[in-house]
Amino acid sequence: MTAKPDHILLLAGTREARLLAGALAETFPKTRITASYAGVVRDLPDPGVPVRVGGFGGVEGLSNYLIGEAVSVIVDATHPFAAQMSCNAVAAATSTDIPLLRLERQGWVPVEGDIWVNAASMEEAASALPSDARAFLAIGRKDIGCFTRRPDIHAVVRMIEPPEAVLPDHWELILSRPPKLAEKEIALFKDRRITHVVTKNSGGKRSSAKIKAARHLGLPVIMVRRPDLPEAPSADSVAGLIRCLQPYLSKSI
Ligand code: NAP
Repeated sequence: MTAKPDHILLLAGTREARLLAGALAETFPKTRITASYAGVVRDLPDPGVPVRVGGFGGVEGLSNYLIGEAVSVIVDATHPFAAQMSCNAVAAATSTDIPLLRLERQGWVPVEGDIWVNAASMEEAASALPSDARAFLAIGRKDIGCFTRRPDIHAVVRMIEPPEAVLPDHWELILSRPPKLAEKEIALFKDRRITHVVTKNSGGKRSSAKIKAARHLGLPVIMVRRPDLPEAPSADSVAGLIRCLQPYLSKSI
């Protein structure tokens, strides 16, 4: 009887997770790899490995999946603000005794020229805006309700999928992914006469153009800090994660 191959469950949803999927397939060709997406975004990028989509059904559902699909190791490469998924992954890993590694990209840090106002939560970020603000909100669809309680401000809201919350009539909604070039953000901020930028400290290159644009224009950035996550062995790069993973893959090398 041949032994089943190792199976990596890759909790995805970030650019780094997509890069990691390709690197894992190349480094561990005998290993089964499954990339998992929440399914919130419709045009999912192809990570080049088999994909499953949708929630697992909490810790219990994830634990059942891990056992049923003979997962050897979990790699949590979700967004730094996807705290529920990361907490569930740690709890399911503990209850099933399956190892978990986290790919945690570094947060942005202010550099010379940045004017940052740190906020511990979305509520705090919303309260930090003065009532004459023309705010650019790049905070995702889930938390927009914290800001719709501030109809005294004007806001330009950018997100990938439409929000469930109804936005005030005088706000503008832009449905798109963030542009790569700071020049595009500068043009947008100038055109809409933006006075404040509000963002999560997501880190990574993919959505950093707005930070550069704010620096260039001397605009304050209200930076929402990352949620705390339970401890887990972590790496901050694809190469580092692969090095950490090697000892867990008995049958693949
Ligand atoms: P979340 O609050 O941590 O997750 C909520 C639920 O969605 C989880 O409990 C899980 O459902 C499901 N889920 C999340 N990621 C999953 C994955 N990779 N595979 C399978 N199921 C997954 O995360 P969120 O609601 O996605 O987003 C929270 C914040 O993170 C938002 O600010 C969002 O903008 C940001 N964000 C998330 C992602 C992402 O891929 N998750 C990507 C970009 C940005 P079950 O409990 O049923 O398993």
